[in-house]
Amino acid sequence: MKTIGIMTSGGDSPGMNAAIRAVVKQAKAHGLQVIGINKGYKGLLEMDCAELSAASVEDLYRKGGTVLKTARFKDFKDPEVVAQGAENCKKLGIEGMVVIGGDGSFRGARDLTHAGIPCVGIPGTIDNDIVCTEDTIGFDSSMNIIIDCISKLRDTSETLDRCTVIEVMGAGAGWMALEGGIAAGADIILVPEVEFDFQKDVIDVIKAKKANGQNYFVIVIAECVFFPESNSKHKKNVNFKYVNELGIENVDKFTKKFQAESGVESRATVLGHIQRGGAPTFHDCVLATNMGVHAVELLNNNKSARVVVVKDGKITDFDIDEGLSMKKPFDKARLEMASKLNF
Ligand code: ATP
Repeated sequence: MKTIGIMTSGGDSPGMNAAIRAVVKQAKAHGLQVIGINKGYKGLLEMDCAELSAASVEDLYRKGGTVLKTARFKDFKDPEVVAQGAENCKKLGIEGMVVIGGDGSFRGARDLTHAGIPCVGIPGTIDNDIVCTEDTIGFDSSMNIIIDCISKLRDTSETLDRCTVIEVMGAGAGWMALEGGIAAGADIILVPEVEFDFQKDVIDVIKAKKANGQNYFVIVIAECVFFPESNSKHKKNVNFKYVNELGIENVDKFTKKFQAESGVESRATVLGHIQRGGAPTFHDCVLATNMGVHAVELLNNNKSARVVVVKDGKITDFDIDEGLSMKKPFDKARLEMASKLNF
């Protein structure tokens, strides 16, 4: 193998640049040429690419976002488009490809491998919703942003005896709300995987806390609690019908109803894209570097259709299909622990 390609695909996450840097540096250590594809599979179709030198990636280790940009490109689900992508790789001399992204991107990588270009996936997503890996590049950085934002919102809630209802990201899954809510000591955490009852699990809980002398509150809600099933990417949102019937189908309506029924003055805050921004944490820099090195080792040893993962705390890899077919049930026990802990 003489030349490999690299792309970032799907949502951006802090640490993707550190992974790009590691891939390029490790590839250069093996004497490989690296071609950076801009904007994921879309860029591959458009042959929007440039060679990456070691010097060009030197300063990327703590830069947020992804210098290769990213895109969502549904057309890549079409086998003819995949075949064109493989053809373009051949024209560019690309004999192996590193794809940094989420599980949608891995499906594209699997298809591109079947079309003749060996691919290796690196999990880069803030959502931590990739079943086969214990960790993803960007999750820790995003969690740190979330606890920082919640701490700030907590200060003003405390000062004004208010409740702050905070919507966090997570695509179709509640991992960000769960771990962010636990870390920041949220009073209530609502996720798409576990059914809740507005009266029993929200109003009654806050009223009981108020009766115990607590004057301010923090409720963390995963964005996808309000998503219709058709929009819910990975998991079924078991609360969708319920939130619709109650007329609380977005965080503003939820907060207004909560204020009316609990008697606690309340404000809604949607953290939004701030959760994706900024420099990666130490943890994500190291994770991205280790994963980038591992990915190049796989390609250089003629292994393909692999996804780099963390298993039992160590970097290893799985077959992409095997990884994509794994199931990871939501950790209800941790959610229960959080509700008991915060009472
Ligand atoms: P994130 O978790 O951040 O959303 P993701 O990689 O899961 O990242 P997707 O939008 O699902 O994000 O996928 C990214 C890209 O991967 C798509 O825009 C498309 O180009 C390609 N892709 C997704 N699903 C498939 C599929 N089933 N077959 C081939 N390619 C796919």
